[in-house]
Amino acid sequence: MTKTTAITIWSGCDSDVEEAINAVIQAWGPYSAKSRRFSIFRLLREQLDPVWFDFCQRTSALSCEKLNQAWARYQNGRAFRGQQSCQELPLKGASPPSLLAQYLGFNELDWFLKTVARNAAERDIDLIPTLDSLRELAIACRTKQPKRLGKVRLLPGKEKCRYCDQLTELAVALANDDDSGLGRSSLYCSAHKPKKVLSDAVGGKYQKARRSQGAFDQELERLDFQSWAGIKSAYAKSGNPLVDEFIWRLSVHRRLTHEQHSEKLGTLETKLRWEARMMVDRRMTDRKKEIVALLCSGITQIEAAKQLGLKSRQAISKALQSIHADYRLDLHCQVAN
Ligand SMILES: [Zn+2]
Repeated sequence: MTKTTAITIWSGCDSDVEEAINAVIQAWGPYSAKSRRFSIFRLLREQLDPVWFDFCQRTSALSCEKLNQAWARYQNGRAFRGQQSCQELPLKGASPPSLLAQYLGFNELDWFLKTVARNAAERDIDLIPTLDSLRELAIACRTKQPKRLGKVRLLPGKEKCRYCDQLTELAVALANDDDSGLGRSSLYCSAHKPKKVLSDAVGGKYQKARRSQGAFDQELERLDFQSWAGIKSAYAKSGNPLVDEFIWRLSVHRRLTHEQHSEKLGTLETKLRWEARMMVDRRMTDRKKEIVALLCSGITQIEAAKQLGLKSRQAISKALQSIHADYRLDLHCQVAN
């Protein structure tokens, strides 16, 4: 049985906001606070943030100044509850809701909206249905986040780039006490971010990474499966036994399994992400993986060509020339056959 989500949208809610809430609810099945690919925060960033800003601009009671007043009031009310982090963060009342949710959790987003509603009620009672509908959404989103989100997962400054193992631009800015954090990307590192500051040019590396997004996700998933399976058997679940074998040999060779790894989980994840990025950037295709996997088992290039249905040995040697030395596991293989 699938869980259906129903949230109340109060009558009198702004129609654009209502539409955005509905769009979030419709798309939100696979989205969660844990998933990189289907991040609930990204969903909110795409669907809700622009509408929210638009709504605030149209509404005098929700000007930047008023929102920041509400923010100060909210912080005063929450400071005693041990939420010091919100004072250190470059967040403001006018920050995007998705960012508030990401760093403070949905509970706190709800509290903040409640404060906004309380402030606004003194001036514009018509705002209440819209704000209350948004609070409903925030409360519904709580089911999408791990219980201890506020304490563990939300440590700012730890988020990884969507496309590689580097910290996001925002995370780096936060770590360096750079308070211009709000202009920074919370999704990408500085190399992979779509637009450079003060320029409209789309970043070249972003475009390249975006084109290979599917490949990166796929390699990362394979490495992740193998990392949990350990060193004994191939378990990359690629659907191709030779590719599985390559990932297995590579993981063992590079010590990318939890079995071989005694450090914190976070460090292994960083290594897996780096490895996935490298495999994609160095164009280590599945065909090349098959070739290396076959050669690892000790057979000749002629036999390998035959097994892969290639016309000649030359095809193999040509492919080998384009394989980065790091992936020539057949030359320095440590997995015993
Ligand atoms: Zn990156």
